[in-house]
Amino acid sequence: MSALERLREAQALAAEGRRRDIADGREVVGTFSPPVPPPELIEAAGATPYRLLENRGPDADLRGMGALGRDTCSFCRSVLGSAILDPPPITCIASGTVCDRLRHMTDAWPAATGLPLYTVAVPRTREVPGQVPVLAEEFRLFASEISSRTGTPVTKTRLTEAIKRGNRCREVLTALDELRRESPPRLSGGEFLDVVRASHALSTSEFLELADGLIAKIRSREPMKRRPVRILLVGPTLTDGDRDVVRMAEVDCGAAIVGDLTDSGSLGYGEPVSEDRDPFTALAEQVLAHPILTAPLKPSTAFRDAFRRALQDGRPDGVVYRGVPFCRPFNSEAVPLRELSPVPFLDLRVEATGASGQVRTRLGAFLEAIEARLHFARENTR
Ligand code: SF4
Repeated sequence: MSALERLREAQALAAEGRRRDIADGREVVGTFSPPVPPPELIEAAGATPYRLLENRGPDADLRGMGALGRDTCSFCRSVLGSAILDPPPITCIASGTVCDRLRHMTDAWPAATGLPLYTVAVPRTREVPGQVPVLAEEFRLFASEISSRTGTPVTKTRLTEAIKRGNRCREVLTALDELRRESPPRLSGGEFLDVVRASHALSTSEFLELADGLIAKIRSREPMKRRPVRILLVGPTLTDGDRDVVRMAEVDCGAAIVGDLTDSGSLGYGEPVSEDRDPFTALAEQVLAHPILTAPLKPSTAFRDAFRRALQDGRPDGVVYRGVPFCRPFNSEAVPLRELSPVPFLDLRVEATGASGQVRTRLGAFLEAIEARLHFARENTR
């Protein structure tokens, strides 16, 4: 079995592992959206973070709609509805105030599942100076709340160790991100998203053990024979089983997702956290520098800068913006991002329950038009 297959299998079995942890008396903390609360805080308190991205299809969507109303994004409906249908292996929930709809969903969670909720307040703007100590204090409070459940205090030593493990995971993911940007790439966008997903479902130690040798294996692969159409994917979190657009682009149409701005991918781990300073401050600095769009962190300058960098680094031939209905943070950015994009830009709205045939047709036509443009440009340079 390859290192990639081992990771995929471990991710598929992660829920069973967390159930065993709970039976052994360990706390498992469900989270929704990185980077708040930072998983390092949860690990330093002797608990295991477990990212909640289960999607149990149309029945879950209906359950979520019943609890949250029709005008909620299908990400929130699917995640909450899935937990109502099939309770996840967690003992409590922790969430940052990163998006109004997510807040509404997490507030509904205790009544729907009976589990306690811990909330970390994220500053509403990056513009006002002095936000780092405020967020660092929020992290201290959160650490003490989780510690009171586990009985393990979050000391500076434990937190610095957790940050070091988190940074080693970031190194692996960054190296893989670079391999999918090669021309032609050695790693597909779908494979990269699988690895990031595994890093969110497993503890850092489990992930690092299984990822050992993965980079060398991928580097030793032969690159793809032909140059595929290169795509940058932008949009909100993809739930499990919600990869229709990725599959359609890569498997059905032969394109390659060489970069992404989603927290299921390259926004899901962020830049390294400083290991040399007060660890709470270091985590607060890293979060405030992160281009989170799903936060009320206005203005969206950091996200637009990240978009410009992703265009520069990935050299995509086109941008696929995959939004979901009722997602205000991302949908309101689609127009400014289109204006910034020097390459063709496709704006799609896809429910987490699955993409329609119409989405398939639009995506296929978009990729064909890019292919034709590239062919024409090659012919003209001969
Ligand atoms: S960012 Fe969009 S998809 Fe994500 S929770 Fe907020 S509204 Fe829903």
